[in-house]
Amino acid sequence: CGPSPEEQQMKARLSRIKNKIVVLSGKGGVGKSTVAVNIAIALSLAGKKVGLLDVDVHGPSVPRLLGLSGQQPHMNEASMEPVGWSKNLWVMSLGFLIPSPEQAVIWRGPVKMGLINQFLRDVEWGDLDFLVVDCPPGTGDEPLSVLQSIGPDAQAVVVTTPQSVAVDDVRRSVSFVRQLGNPLLGIVENMSGYVCRHCGQVEHIFSSGGGERLAQEMDVPFLGSIPLDPEMGRSAEEGYAYLKVHEHTPVTEAFGRIVKPMLEKA
Ligand code: ADP
Repeated sequence: CGPSPEEQQMKARLSRIKNKIVVLSGKGGVGKSTVAVNIAIALSLAGKKVGLLDVDVHGPSVPRLLGLSGQQPHMNEASMEPVGWSKNLWVMSLGFLIPSPEQAVIWRGPVKMGLINQFLRDVEWGDLDFLVVDCPPGTGDEPLSVLQSIGPDAQAVVVTTPQSVAVDDVRRSVSFVRQLGNPLLGIVENMSGYVCRHCGQVEHIFSSGGGERLAQEMDVPFLGSIPLDPEMGRSAEEGYAYLKVHEHTPVTEAFGRIVKPMLEKA
């Protein structure tokens, strides 16, 4: 038997999106959501039509990061309308629908996967240049479900920190994506050094460059390193977009380098 009506609907919606970028990490807390949000903003500031989809069932933090907490997406019987953040960036997050993150954690796997698939199927994005997906962390059933549902053209970005590089997380994420046969856009090293409050230069307290070495070793493109910037933490807490407010900082330049190959390929 052929694809179900639901699968056909998902295919039809996804076929209107030119580039699908799925942001993954081997574990939580490395800044995956922060990177996904800022990639989406950087692409939208470059004039592209962008959707940002947050399916991180364990900690859907995108509404908070973008100052959209408490917003309710408009729902019809067969579709959900994403929330507009700017004239060319639309957002949909499980966080709009789940009253508290604790609630999601107790759901059983199939319920979470059903919800993820429903999201991919029902959000009415229209025509987009890019869909950026903030995926649940790890290499378990949930990210697997996301990549499989979006299909073989979902391009993966793996986020790590200099420390977790040592713990083989990235190796696992890279093999996971390779096993599924999806293209790997590359590795991003987040929290790589910190931006000095006084001089604005990047200082390195811990070792850095591990992400780049690993990328070379595994023959994966290295997309760039993002330093820790206290201002990034503040913008996340207060829900304003760092990239909209700042120019020519180590962080804005890092995101410029990260989205460059995406814009060139688009
Ligand atoms: P994850 O999605 O991997 O769980 P988050 O994106 O939620 O991680 O980031 C975890 C915390 O680290 C958040 O409080 C976020 O604001 C902060 N953070 C992430 N990257 C940076 C950075 N480069 N500079 C400063 N703070 C950061």
